[in-house]
Parts: sequence; structure tokens; C-alpha cells
Amino acid sequence: MEDKKKNETRQSTMQNRMENMNGQKPKTISIVISVYNEEKALHEFYREATPVFEALPWNYELIFVNDGSADASGQILAELAAADPRVRVINFSRNFGHEAAMLAGLDHSSGEGIVCMDADLQHPPECVAQIIEKFEEGYEVINMVRTKNKSAGFIKNLTSAFYKFLNKISDVKLENNASDFFALTANAAQVLKTNYREKVRFLRGYVQNIGFNRTTIEYEARARVAGESKYSIRKLFKFSINTILCFSDLPLKLGIYSGIIVGFLGLLVMLETIYEWAVKGTPNGYATIVVLLCFMFAMLFVIVGIIGEYIAILFTELKDRPIYIVHDTKGFPEKES
Ligand code: UDP
Ligand code: MG
Repeated sequence: MEDKKKNETRQSTMQNRMENMNGQKPKTISIVISVYNEEKALHEFYREATPVFEALPWNYELIFVNDGSADASGQILAELAAADPRVRVINFSRNFGHEAAMLAGLDHSSGEGIVCMDADLQHPPECVAQIIEKFEEGYEVINMVRTKNKSAGFIKNLTSAFYKFLNKISDVKLENNASDFFALTANAAQVLKTNYREKVRFLRGYVQNIGFNRTTIEYEARARVAGESKYSIRKLFKFSINTILCFSDLPLKLGIYSGIIVGFLGLLVMLETIYEWAVKGTPNGYATIVVLLCFMFAMLFVIVGIIGEYIAILFTELKDRPIYIVHDTKGFPEKES
């Protein structure tokens, strides 16, 4: 299995070299595009991006990861792969999510540099030229940072606030306004491919924390070219919770902190009760007990819930199920399946 993988990598490197000799371009950049129900955007993406990528000083391969699309995306991609040898397609057996799609793209890439981007043209293809410049300067991890988001709204602002919060409560530092638009050298990607195969994932976060020679490029995010965002508020919320749990253990310690605070409050209530009893002679109690009980139970359940979330993540990791399942691939010269 390992040998087969190594062989495939060797073959693909050789093939790249041959293409390079033919095309007189020194290196190859793999552009990974996650696709989930993007039938409305794909043609537009391909039409707009192709001339931009052709003008690059490096060769390129477009790796479309079809994340179980239910619309015509798969068919459109098959047509593109049949017509253009630089297009590769990975079809998942079902929807595994954007994170899994990006990882599959990294796993199947053969270029010296790799870029992950959306299929909806929110991440401008023109930026890839700047990315290659940075690679040439010796940078290995390039974070693309949004300056202005034309489709920015309440949710995006909320996301920025979320990053600030996350940076406060965890020991990793995440760039505010970073997006799932980033670039890595094959070396840096290798670390993510081998050592960051967690099931509950946040690739954007790992990219910013593996070290290497890092830089950022600012870009102006465009409006989505067609279709709708695949991230509903519910999905974003779930994603945010998972991110907090994966990057911080503060929630686990909440029990200790709230225990101390409530213990202190309890002491105050006790003193007050003794005072009432000693001075007024009336043991006043029922309302206080009910309020305290409700408060204590609410807090206990929240803490048990938080511990439950961590156990759920542990359980998911323990089961060690695949992060994605490939149904078939198209356009990969050496590993057709
Ligand atoms: N995507 C995916 N699987 C999913 C959801 C989204 O591959 O389960 C893709 C989607 O097709 C797009 C990218 O991930 O290319 C980012 O999604 P989207 O543009 O909807 O998110 P937004 O840019 O609005 O945050
Ligand atoms: Mg998008």
C-alpha cells in the first residue's frame, strides 16, 4: 500500500517533470477547488480562471473535489476533465464537507505548490500569480487575508468576533479574516497530510500553526458568482463550537472556575441567612433555595454537556473512520480508478 503510494508519487513527479520540459515551465502549482452543488458557478469559474492560470509562470493542475454534489456538478466536471488534461476530478461517495474536500485535494496534489480555493470565484484567481511570487521568494505557507468582503454581512462580522474570542481562549493564534484560501509548498502540505488527520477538523487553523516560513497576502473577496453559500447559520455554529473544542481546553476547566465562583456565592448566601436569622429572627428560605437549586442545576448540566462534547470528539477520533471516501477519480494520468 505504502509502496504503491510512493510509486504513484514518483510517477506523478516524473510526469510533471516531463510536462515541465515540454511546457518549459519550471514547476507546477496544484489548485484545489472544493465543489458542492456548484453547477451554476463551475463553467464561470473555469472560463474565468483558465486564461489567468495559463499566464502563470508555473504549470498548473486543477484538482476539483466533488464533495457528493447532488446537482450536475459531477457531470460538468467530467466534461471539463475529458476536454482539458490539466483538470483532475475526485468524486466523493457522498458529502463529507469542505474540510474533507480540501484534505483530499492536498492528498492528491502533485505540484511543488498547492493552493486551496472556493469554486464560486470569491477567491480571485489573479491572486495565484502573487502566490507564486511569494513561493519564489522562499515563503512556504501563504495565508490569504480578506480586506473587504463584498458579500460581508452580519455573519462574517460575527465570525471576526469569534476569531478574537478564540485567540483569547486558546494558545494558538489565528489570523482574523483568514479564509479557506491559502497556499502551501509540497513540504508544508506533507505535514498536514501526515500529522493532521484529525476527524473533527479545522484546516485553516492548522495551516496557521505549523510554522514554516509564513507570509500573508491581502485580497479583496468578491461576491459569490452564482448559487448560494453552503454554510447555513446552523453549520457555522456547529463549526464554531467544534473549533473552540479542538483548539482550547478552557471549556473543560469551566467546571473548576464556576465551582469556585458558586462556592463563594454560596458562602455569601450562608452569611446573609445567618444574619437574617440572628438579627430578625426569621429564617427566610424557600425562594432562596429554589433560585439556588435552579442556578446550580443549570450550571451543572452545561458543564456535563461540555464534557459530553469532548467525549463525542474523542469517540469520533477513536472510531477512526475515514475522513472521506473516494468514489472515483478522473483526469489523474497515473492513478485512474
Ligand atoms: N463546499 C464543499 N462541501 C460542503 C460545503 C461547501 O466542498 O459541504 C465547498 C463549496 O462548494 C465552496 C467552498 O466549499 O466551493 C466554500 O463554500 P461556500 O462558498 O458555500 O462558503 P462561503 O464562501 O459562503 O463561506
Ligand atoms: Mg464561497
